[in-house]
Amino acid sequence: MLFFLSHAGLSADDHVLDFLLTNLDALDLVNLALTSSVCCWRLGRGYLPCKSRQNLETPGHCPASDAWPLVQQCSCEKLMPTAAFSTRQFTGGLAFFYFAAMALDLPVTRPLHLEATRPVKAHGASKSTSSPFVTTSRVSAALALAGLARQCGVLRRATAVKKKGVRVVEGKEIPWNLFSPKAPYKGSTVSKETITSKTPLVNWETCHVIMDHGGKVPYIEGQSIGIIAPGPDKKGETPAKIRLYSIASSAPGDDEKNNTVSLVVKRVVEVAGRGWCEYSNVEKGKDPEFPDAAKVYRGVCSSHICDLNAGDDVLITGPTGAEMLLPEDPEANMIFMATGTGIAPFRSHLRNLFHDRVSKGKFKGVAWLFLGVPFSQSLLYDEEWKEMQAEYPDQFRYDYAVSSEEKSEKNKINGEMWVQHKMMQYADDLWELVKDPKTHVYMCGLKGMESGFAECFQERVEAEGMVYAEFLKKMKKDKRYHVEVY
Ligand code: FAD
Repeated sequence: MLFFLSHAGLSADDHVLDFLLTNLDALDLVNLALTSSVCCWRLGRGYLPCKSRQNLETPGHCPASDAWPLVQQCSCEKLMPTAAFSTRQFTGGLAFFYFAAMALDLPVTRPLHLEATRPVKAHGASKSTSSPFVTTSRVSAALALAGLARQCGVLRRATAVKKKGVRVVEGKEIPWNLFSPKAPYKGSTVSKETITSKTPLVNWETCHVIMDHGGKVPYIEGQSIGIIAPGPDKKGETPAKIRLYSIASSAPGDDEKNNTVSLVVKRVVEVAGRGWCEYSNVEKGKDPEFPDAAKVYRGVCSSHICDLNAGDDVLITGPTGAEMLLPEDPEANMIFMATGTGIAPFRSHLRNLFHDRVSKGKFKGVAWLFLGVPFSQSLLYDEEWKEMQAEYPDQFRYDYAVSSEEKSEKNKINGEMWVQHKMMQYADDLWELVKDPKTHVYMCGLKGMESGFAECFQERVEAEGMVYAEFLKKMKKDKRYHVEVY
């Protein structure tokens, strides 16, 4: 609807403004309008005072509670477009509120006289590209459409309408595949840093990479992006097929300026005799690190990412993914189980909860991170977690399992400390949390993590007279069991 209205050439009119400012006191109406993050995004970017914009600039981060008081405070003049935004966009946004009200049959305290035709009073506005007059025919057409839509119940389901670049997940619009593999976004590398140190493993290296997307690839916490490496790929194709990577930064990016996305990528290296190596893509004797190896395979995309230098181009697709999103409820609890680079979505979440200026302090629940790595040199973002723990000791708990350095008698396979065995040390506390309907469990990283969760809690479930499969089914149905493994 917003799109339609913005492009129907409707212009700002005193009566429209008057009507909206008089009637926008129904919180339901704003809630409805704010489910359109695009609308809110535009509203936040263009029409709200500067200091409040940051909250609203990221799609999906526009809670009505933040925006509504600001909308109310704004005088008619303040709501007028700024130099950077056209009257057309502005009117589209406001008209969205109006039609939402109509569709919901909300009380309208004053009739709207749309017949009037008068010049736009766009104080401080840039030269509008839309018609400076409200024409009756355009308004009538829009009203007729809105009436029809209301009859059909279309507007009630407005958020379910398919829009390009957006997907509705649990009533909320989130950015979705703004860039496809055929038309990726060409970003540039801000920085690449190796954040692990050498271990006996050939694939010891993990990098934190920050890429500039110029604000063109907005995403929310828990999503992934695709990266297209130049190749050649496994079967010789150039460029290579996309590989997905969970986003490791929160929506505003590491510098909180809404322009960057970060990844944490493990360099795939396989060397015959030292780690699985069925395939080879390095000529024998030519690998700089393992010249004597009979066979070496280097991951196509992970090598590309881990070899990036500041300023290098990088092809980005997405964003995508709805499995690992944060719950809306600020009082929800979260248990995060990560192995290796599976930490990515949790870094994104935890920075949202405990670090970023726009969001920290809002979360009222408890978050508990369990990170599993093979060696202590492989620990990821350890300092960040410790800082968060020091600042939020009652809300953030952090434990790690270093499999090659710690033993657990609970591990009947090889006696190493894996994530689930570390969790078993706190099984009583965790079990109370898991049973709490406000608790969400997230797992990310190695395939097989789900069996770790079962290993940890199945006995408890059964001891309380429940069937584990049923318990899990209910958790999934309640959307509090989130898994992303690869
Ligand atoms: P590839 O070159 O694709 O090699 C992968 C494997 O294929 C190797 O084991 C290789 O031996 C084998 N292989 C080689 N040739 C053949 C052949 N001809 N036939 C069959 N097999 C062959 N990774 C991260 O590091 N960080 C993340 O945050 C992350 N997030 C992810 C999120 C999701 C949702 C998914 C699905 C995956 C994620 N991954 C992540 C994994 C990532 O997508 C890549 O799979 C990984 O980086 C390896 O890609 P590559 O191109 O380097 O390896």
